[in-house]
Amino acid sequence: MFQLTAISAFQDNYIWMLQHPSHPGLAVAVDPGESAPVIDWLTEHNVELAAILVTHHHPDHTGGIAELAHANIAIYGPADSPFEAVTEPLKDEALIELLGQTLRIKTVPGHTLDHLAYFAAAGDSADTPQLFCGDTLFIGGCGRLFEGSAEQMQQAMAFFRSLPDNTQICAAHEYTLANLAFAAAVEPNNSAIQAAQKRCQQLRSKGLPTLPGRIGEEMQINPFMRYDQPEVVRTAERLSGQPLDNDAQVLAAIRQWKDRF
Ligand SMILES: [Zn+2]
Repeated sequence: MFQLTAISAFQDNYIWMLQHPSHPGLAVAVDPGESAPVIDWLTEHNVELAAILVTHHHPDHTGGIAELAHANIAIYGPADSPFEAVTEPLKDEALIELLGQTLRIKTVPGHTLDHLAYFAAAGDSADTPQLFCGDTLFIGGCGRLFEGSAEQMQQAMAFFRSLPDNTQICAAHEYTLANLAFAAAVEPNNSAIQAAQKRCQQLRSKGLPTLPGRIGEEMQINPFMRYDQPEVVRTAERLSGQPLDNDAQVLAAIRQWKDRF
């Protein structure tokens, strides 16, 4: 597994910095929307930037790349994207090797059409899998559907559900408290959501990030991962005013409510 540092950027973005003991002095930046906090961190830790991972084209994920990039830095990102500075274009199920770790690429359109997720499987039973999922999966929530469909987002959520429970979720925003307030409105009887709210409020009151999350916990609290749970379906059907017959329709109804929540 990578050693993780979440650098704060803008209002509520996290730029994940990845390091590995096998490659001391090197780091990989995920979605550097701003260059200055990354440069400060690299200088402070005497670390050199080895590569950049891009999940999707939005400027708050790519805006720092022009200033960070130089000839020796590989820029991994979606093959088909409005963001054109990628030097290592990636397609679904590609495998890449970074700092001695293998990352599997999964296309997860929904928030944008070019969106990628990067998954590092556990090397052995003592290791922890890690997911870098940009604006697709958040703690307690999912990204807004700017370009893709609810069907696509539901398929992305189904992929995340297939990952090991102990997978760390490294999402790109600190949206947790707002997401959990919404999750509690979708499932007022879900005590796991209330427990997560209490824990995350304590972290935020100390100025600490609530991330990384865990897939196993999201399965208990995230309404967008819980599209087939009875209370989520009931809420979605009440919002729609009609019975819903598939998971994507449930996710669509919940997502539309979240947009105006
Ligand atoms: Zn975005």
